[in-house]
Amino acid sequence: MFDELNDLYQQVILDHCKHPRNFRELDHPTCSAQGHNPLCGDQLKVFLSLDGDVIKEISFLGSGCCISKASASLLTESLKGKKKADVQQIFDRVHEMVMTGRVTGDVGKLAVFAGVHKFPARVKCAILAWHAVMAALKGDGQPVSTENQGA
Ligand code: ZN
Repeated sequence: MFDELNDLYQQVILDHCKHPRNFRELDHPTCSAQGHNPLCGDQLKVFLSLDGDVIKEISFLGSGCCISKASASLLTESLKGKKKADVQQIFDRVHEMVMTGRVTGDVGKLAVFAGVHKFPARVKCAILAWHAVMAALKGDGQPVSTENQGA
């Protein structure tokens, strides 16, 4: 499935899949949310610890395919230290990127997922952790499913 992905991007994704970063539960999370992608069977839970408006700690646990785990792992790296208000903007960029392949603005390492749009079945895997984070920040505590999110 990686045939058309750039080799470097492929290596980054495989590395984060095999060695996911921040793969643990937080002791006292400010908020958390579960995400489920029934099409692929990906299940994960994100944990956030906020200091005022800033994401102080972020982690995840779960099981799923390589893309979903790598995406969650890179998400935790890229959102740590960010303000809540910035997360929506980053989410919008990542969403646009995995849907269309267009990169708008600085997405840093998350650019490795730009190739995912060529594999429509994998888009939901790549965006799952992001939906979970958005749900956690909204604070309604409801599990999210990619089936209710349009992607
Ligand atoms: Zn998946």
